[in-house]
Amino acid sequence: MHNKPHTEEAKKKMSQALKGRTAWNKGKKLPQISGKNHYNWKNGKFISRGYIYILNKNHPFAEKRGYVLEAHLVMEKKLGRYLLPKEVVHHIDGDKLNNSIKNLVLFATQSVHIKLHKLKDKESDIGISNRTFKKNSC
Ligand SMILES: [Zn+2]
Repeated sequence: MHNKPHTEEAKKKMSQALKGRTAWNKGKKLPQISGKNHYNWKNGKFISRGYIYILNKNHPFAEKRGYVLEAHLVMEKKLGRYLLPKEVVHHIDGDKLNNSIKNLVLFATQSVHIKLHKLKDKESDIGISNRTFKKNSC
């Protein structure tokens, strides 16, 4: 009797390929993240709809329960001020879980940000479709 080909390594590769992103959580023991699901993490961090939120109750723009987008916190740290309500943080590689400052760009308004996406979508032939820009981050 021998093992099935679905080794841990293969599973990992498969899930990464599906999500089209790199192993940002490599080396950390985190639950597997699958798109729409979210997990509550012990350290005040959770993922919802592909966005990482950090518990930060003192933040002026935190949502009801006191969570703030990690991308915003990272950008604010760099700027040394809070983001303006109109400002948008964009993920260069399209991976909303990659909140490295190198992967983030600040746009003054959503309309400038959307313009960039329209250009990008044209290139990749996806079309802007029903992508929503409700969150000031993407
Ligand atoms: Zn974007």
